[in-house]
This record gives sequence, C-alpha cells and structure tokens, in this order.
Amino acid sequence: MKPASARDYFDEVECWSAAELRAWQLERVREVVDYAVAHVPFYRNLWKRAGLPRRSHLRSFEDLESFPLVDKEILVRAGQDWTGAAGGSVGFSTRGTSGEPLLLWSSLEDQQYGIRGLLRAFWWMGFRPGMTALLLSPAWHKLAAAEAHAIARLGGSIAYFWGSMGADSIPRFLHTLSSVHPELISTTTPFLLSCLRYGEEQGIRLRAAFRGVRSIVAVGQPLTPQLRKFLERRLGVGQVFEKAGCQEAGIGLDDCPWHTGPHIQEDTAYLEVVDGAGRGVPPGERGRFVVTKFTAGSGSVVVRYTTGDIAAFLPGACPCGRALRRLKMYGRPESSVVVAGRAITAYDVRLAVDEDPDLVGRNVVLVRDDPNTLTAAIEGAPVGVAALEARLRQQLRLPEVEIVWLGDVRLAWTFRQVVERSELGVAQRRRA
Ligand SMILES: [Zn+2]
Repeated sequence: MKPASARDYFDEVECWSAAELRAWQLERVREVVDYAVAHVPFYRNLWKRAGLPRRSHLRSFEDLESFPLVDKEILVRAGQDWTGAAGGSVGFSTRGTSGEPLLLWSSLEDQQYGIRGLLRAFWWMGFRPGMTALLLSPAWHKLAAAEAHAIARLGGSIAYFWGSMGADSIPRFLHTLSSVHPELISTTTPFLLSCLRYGEEQGIRLRAAFRGVRSIVAVGQPLTPQLRKFLERRLGVGQVFEKAGCQEAGIGLDDCPWHTGPHIQEDTAYLEVVDGAGRGVPPGERGRFVVTKFTAGSGSVVVRYTTGDIAAFLPGACPCGRALRRLKMYGRPESSVVVAGRAITAYDVRLAVDEDPDLVGRNVVLVRDDPNTLTAAIEGAPVGVAALEARLRQQLRLPEVEIVWLGDVRLAWTFRQVVERSELGVAQRRRA
C-alpha cells in the first residue's frame, strides 16, 4: 500500500477554489438563518431584539457579523427552545468540563452530513478499505461517535478501546494494540504522552506495540511541529495528524499530509475568528472561535456559536493546493493565563520550550500566580535555562518570566494545562 500523497483528493470539495467555497457556504448560511427564523423561537426572538430584519437578506459574510454571538451558557439557559430539533432523534450531551453540559440533538441524516469531513480526513491519513482503525470509546465525544460511521463507510474494520484515557488504562490499551494491529489510531495527545511515560517507567519498548501503525489522529491540544515529530519518532509510527473540532457543530479540523496546520472541513460549517465586538479579524490574528453549522431541520441549529476557544486563521496557502482554510485552535481561556493584560496559552509556552530538542516531550504547565509574571513549570532538571527564558521573553513579548523546574516531580498528562502554585507542592521548593 502506497503512502497517502498530499494531492490524493478524496472528493470534489477539495478541488473547489476559495471563491467557489465561499459562495457555496454563503448559500448554506442563508438557508440555516431562514430555517431558524421560521422554526426556532430562540433565534427568531434573539435576532428580533437585535433589530435584524425579519428575513435574513444576507448579502455577504460581513452581514452575518451583525448577528449576536451565543455561547453555551446562553443556550443552556434557553433550554430546548434553542435547538430547533424537530427532526433530531439522538441526544448528545457535552461533557460539561467547562460549566453545565449542553444537550445537543442529532439525527441519522445530520450524522451522515457531519461525517463527510471525517471521511476526507481519514483519507488524508492514508486510511483505505480493508484497514483497521482503533478508536477511543465513542462515548467520550460526539465527533468520536461519528468516527465509526466514517470508518465503516470507507470499508474499514473498527476496534474500540473502551477504557478511560487515564494512566490506569495504558496496560490494557497496549495489549489491545498488540492484538488488533491497527493501521490507524484515534486518541488524545495527553494519552499518547502518558503511554510514552509508562513505557519509560516500565522499561517497555512501545515501538513494538505500535508496529504497523501508519497514522495517529491526536486530539485534545494543539501540537507544536517538534512535539508532533517527537511522537512519531518515539512511537515509531508513520505520521501523527493534529485534529481539533467543535462537537456542537459537528465540525472537524484536520491536518493534511503537509502538516501546515489543520484544514477546516468547510462543507460542514462556517467558521469565524472574531474580536471582542464580534467582528472578523484577519488571518494570523487571534480572536474567539465562532461557528455556524450548515444542516437545518435535522438536529440542533447552531448559528454564531462561540466556544470561547482562542483561535486564528493561518495565513497563506497550504502546498497541498486545497483551498479549505486552515485554523489553529490554541485552547480555551482556562488553558491560558493573563499576563500583563494579554492571554498567554500553554501552547505559546510549549512552542518556545520545544525549540530545545532536550525539552521536547516534557510536561509543561502554566502556573496561575502573579499577573505581571509568566510562570511555567517544566518537568525534569534545568536545561538551557538562560536561552529558554530569553526565548519566552522575546516570543511572548513579556518582561518577566519565571521557570519552575520540577525535577523528579511528575505531573499527570491531562487536558488541563494551568495549575495554581499551591498544586505544585514539593516542586515549589525546587525553583531554579
Ligand atoms: Zn494542506
């Protein structure tokens, strides 16, 4: 089986020009807005209060920017009034990791619509008929549940790992891996890093368990180029693909084989990155992630929904030739700290840390503490201290940087990347 080539397109959407994509998307947004006005009292009333015309009359995406943003708190408060879920038959709940869970409605038609991006993404990863995919328990996330539909549609075999993503599941996960011999694994970055640590501690060669794995889809946190390469090298797998997404809109963002940043599956939803006033910001500039989902009449209606994630469209074209825009999600506000009035994400710090090959793969967390000083805790013994501090100051444009070296103290790899200083415990005394 040949490795997937960057221009091995799955469908015609990948061949559309940017202008064709935008025109098609504008039509879908108009349909959704019209549907919401006609069938969803929540949106009808919201837009009426905002003084928007009775019919949408969306001439351009700029017109969409006058529609109010909604977030999870607003939708939870609105109850079922916001969903427009007349055709929805399957309920999903968000996990509620940042507040109350939100109940979403879907249908088989809605799911079929949503898996188009997944089919394309798995194709980019080199998954072909007859191969086997090992998927995380589908219960953890709506997008994970849809993965199985996509693998089946591609003529692949599916194996589920039903354990948790905690460290206690690792021995069973490795056992499953050795039994199933998948070509593709869908999992989270913290779990992969936990596996590597387990291998080190137990003296187990993980490359043996991962033998034959061509691609890993890693979700849960943005990857630096160095960390992606580190995972590929240490696990001995073909390629690690970064994935992000938003389950409220069923949209995925996926690396192509060029790994220049995840492409948006733009036939599923329209994405915006906006400033504090809800207006779009140019590529390269950070703002809030906003999504409008295209399906109407068969599941929850999502118009200008913000997850609060910090994101940016990536400027320039990808060498793969696809016009699908690329977007990097840097994390939720809870995975960032505000220093000198600016939000610094764990990814920003990771980017500077990973420039030193001796530091790639170590656990790094931000410490919520002094509002004028960036404090980062890094596992292991101090390495390249002066150079790292200089990089952090320069790249993040911050005057004060403090690094706490944790020595032998190990922090669990989790989605949570910001801790209070008191949580560092014994490590606090080991400050360099
Ligand atoms: Zn690309």
